[in-house]
Amino acid sequence: MKVCNYSCVYCQLGRTKNLQIERKKYFETKDVIDSLYERISANGGIDYITFMGDGEPTLAANLGEMVSELKGLWDGKTALITNGSLLFKTDVKKDALLFDVVSPTVAAGDEKKFRRIHRPHGKITYDLYLKGLMQFSEEYGGICGPK
Ligand code: SF4
Repeated sequence: MKVCNYSCVYCQLGRTKNLQIERKKYFETKDVIDSLYERISANGGIDYITFMGDGEPTLAANLGEMVSELKGLWDGKTALITNGSLLFKTDVKKDALLFDVVSPTVAAGDEKKFRRIHRPHGKITYDLYLKGLMQFSEEYGGICGPK
């Protein structure tokens, strides 16, 4: 099920039926970690584990918990592919800072194009998105680049 706060014109998952902006726990942390650990154990030589999902991964309220637990049992690197629109929120920024690589979407240069391309939830504005992205890049010490 797609969960997103955008409904991008280019989305491979189709139009977003219900735009979400509140974070929720969609999967139990333990179930995700157990499943990942099983795969890591069965397939050696994994360099990166990337969090993306069917929609926007930062809408998962337990994103930070999941990546922290993963890092506690595995030495590889973690990556986050995000639309970047919620980085202005302190809790989302805190979770994103835990990743080794963060790849936010950069596709529009002003409010008009932003709304036309991403068709975001009404509470997300271009200014908020940009503010979040800039604050994040000032604090982040990992690899950050647009997807
Ligand atoms: S942010 Fe990603 S998942 Fe959400 S609508 Fe855009 S392309 Fe689709």
